[in-house]
Amino acid sequence: MGVQDRAVACEFLNCLCRFDAMANKDRRLSIVAEQCSGCLRCALACSLYTSPERTFNLAQSKIRVVPGWEQGTFEITVSHDCTCCGICAMYCEFGALTTVDR
Ligand code: SF4
Ligand code: SF4
Repeated sequence: MGVQDRAVACEFLNCLCRFDAMANKDRRLSIVAEQCSGCLRCALACSLYTSPERTFNLAQSKIRVVPGWEQGTFEITVSHDCTCCGICAMYCEFGALTTVDR
C-alpha cells in the first residue's frame, strides 16, 4: 500500500492531524541517521498527512532529510512542531526512524 492509498483509506487522520489531536507527549522519534537511504518517504508522508493542503510537499514536512558531508550519508532533523504522531516512522523501511517511549 502506498502513501497516497493509505491517506485515502483513512477517513479521520487528516482531521486529527489538522487539529493536533495526534500530538503524543509520551513518545518521541528515535533517529538513526546511519540507516537512512535518503528515500524521502518519511518527509513525503509527513507533508501529506499533516499539511492543511494534504498534498506531497517537502517544504511542508516537519522532518527534513539532507545529504551529509560524506557521500551516501544523510542528516535528519525534525522541527519543533512535530507531534510525534509516528507516521514518518511507519513509512521508513530502513529502520532509521522509530517511535520510542519518553
Ligand atoms: S512524527 Fe513524523 S510524520 Fe509525525 S509530525 Fe513528526 S515528523 Fe511529521
Ligand atoms: S529516514 Fe527512512 S524514510 Fe526517511 S529518508 Fe531516511 S530511509 Fe527514507
